[in-house]
Amino acid sequence: MSTIRFVAPDGLPALLAFLAQDGRRVLAPAEKPAAKRSVVFEPWQPGKPFTLDKATVPAKEAVLPQCEVLLRFKKTRDAENPGRLALSLDDTPQACPTVVFAARPCDARGYTVLDRPYLQGPFADPYYKARREQLTVFTLTCPRGCNTCFCHWVGGGPTSPEGSDVLMTEIDTGYVLQAITPKGAEILAAAPLEDGAALFARAEEARKAAWASLQPAPNLKSAAQKVAERFTDEEFWQEQTNSCLSCGACTYFCPTCYCFTITDEGEGLSEKGGRRLRSWDTCMSSLFTREASGHNPRVSKALRMRNRVSHKFSTYPENWGAFSCNGCGRCISNCPVCLDIRSIVLAAMADGKTTEK
Ligand code: SF4
Ligand code: SF4
Repeated sequence: MSTIRFVAPDGLPALLAFLAQDGRRVLAPAEKPAAKRSVVFEPWQPGKPFTLDKATVPAKEAVLPQCEVLLRFKKTRDAENPGRLALSLDDTPQACPTVVFAARPCDARGYTVLDRPYLQGPFADPYYKARREQLTVFTLTCPRGCNTCFCHWVGGGPTSPEGSDVLMTEIDTGYVLQAITPKGAEILAAAPLEDGAALFARAEEARKAAWASLQPAPNLKSAAQKVAERFTDEEFWQEQTNSCLSCGACTYFCPTCYCFTITDEGEGLSEKGGRRLRSWDTCMSSLFTREASGHNPRVSKALRMRNRVSHKFSTYPENWGAFSCNGCGRCISNCPVCLDIRSIVLAAMADGKTTEK
């Protein structure tokens, strides 16, 4: 049996303090008081309150920051020949050991979706790689489904271990922690926690109850093909997108969206030099595909929605053999006009009319 440990609720701060040792950055969910309550992953320090509620924003920043410096550059003039410039570059990836604590199974699966293009393509992204190698994921299994989650439609589930190093499950007296990877086993073995093997059966019961709470899932086996067949049906995409505001919230809250833009700042000849930044971008913005000539191949929001949905349910599966949507439901719960990606996919698979949920 894998390494199993137990922690009572009042032992969680001590567990976090242990995880934060040796210079590790611990990202834990924290409540943000606002008009609309939200929960975000933030660096934890002793004494800082945290919650185990599902985060409004996934911990994608652990591997893909909203904005990161890819390289710094500086140009210096040759004193003897001022027309000649020498360029120096520093493109060292910035990464530190990081533990994401209390992710949800959909979030942990999100890292595996990002891993494929960033690590398994013809070019591994060195910045992503440096962060990913230093990442440890503690995932809290979900006690039940909710009305916007559909992880079990797309190959996951409320107790899926994919992408996690440690799986935590709540039982009546606390949390059972199960190592999923050797990295997880090593950290659990060193942690000041009680053995939890005798309690594992209770964790399994809680996991079964979570699955039993889910509504039946539709069969999405033909989704990739059906969505691909809809590609040229512009009327269909128009109908699905009428109410969209092109705000991009659906992509910024998504744990698996990975579009970015690159900008250079500074011109290199100043004392400060210049830097190249990579920042999140969104395919739901009209500017995302506008070319230098002014031509835009995705000029309407219907074409942009087609791209977003087709990438997640058709193109990515064609390339990587899995959906790039993990069913977390954040694009649904955070959309100001309640557009539901499930309805679009089901409509694409049916007769083109929106399927009301
Ligand atoms: S969050 Fe909703 S309104 Fe905003 S771009 Fe996405 S689908 Fe459109
Ligand atoms: S598309 Fe929506 S449901 Fe799917 S992973 Fe992204 S935010 Fe979650």
